[in-house]
Amino acid sequence: MAGVDLPFACDCGKLRGTLLGVSPTNGTRAECYCHDCRAAELYAGQPDPAPGGVQVYQSVPDRVRFDLGEDQLAAFSLSEKGLLQWQASCCGALLFKTARTPKLPFVSFRTDRLEDDNPLGPIVARAFVRKPNGKRGHEGGLKFMFGFAVRALSRRMTGLWKQTPFFHADGTPVRDIHIVPENDRKKFYPARS
Ligand SMILES: [Zn+2]
Ligand SMILES: [Zn+2]
Repeated sequence: MAGVDLPFACDCGKLRGTLLGVSPTNGTRAECYCHDCRAAELYAGQPDPAPGGVQVYQSVPDRVRFDLGEDQLAAFSLSEKGLLQWQASCCGALLFKTARTPKLPFVSFRTDRLEDDNPLGPIVARAFVRKPNGKRGHEGGLKFMFGFAVRALSRRMTGLWKQTPFFHADGTPVRDIHIVPENDRKKFYPARS
């Protein structure tokens, strides 16, 4: 499916770009309720999403293009091995999550940064939702994993995984990654009981 190109921007508008070829089949729209997604928002100084989830569209890095203010792009991670959290340093807005290596070609895009999110289609998966029994579970997980696997595999086979605005050709991220120190990190997670 060809899809449509959608402009996105950080909250203050300094960092702008385009999501290319957006359609309900070129990516998966999902909502995540996990502690990490929430912690990343809080660390970035964004409004607390809880008890709601964080809305994302999971697609591939070759469908992301930065158009303006790319120098505002910054990255952090909540741990040494955690996902890379890409934000706009001007206003703190979180825009993308990626793996630590371009060889795992996926990008999770915060859909709040779009003017029009209709072309993404409906939310098809929910992760870490709290169930009536108090436990957390997933809905639509298979669909989500299937979409991820098919897209990642096709990128690996075609070599398109190398086309990414987040990594240099040698596989290192285009920004220094700030690792949030353990003591700071703890503040953004619920206390263990
Ligand atoms: Zn999450
Ligand atoms: Zn901004």
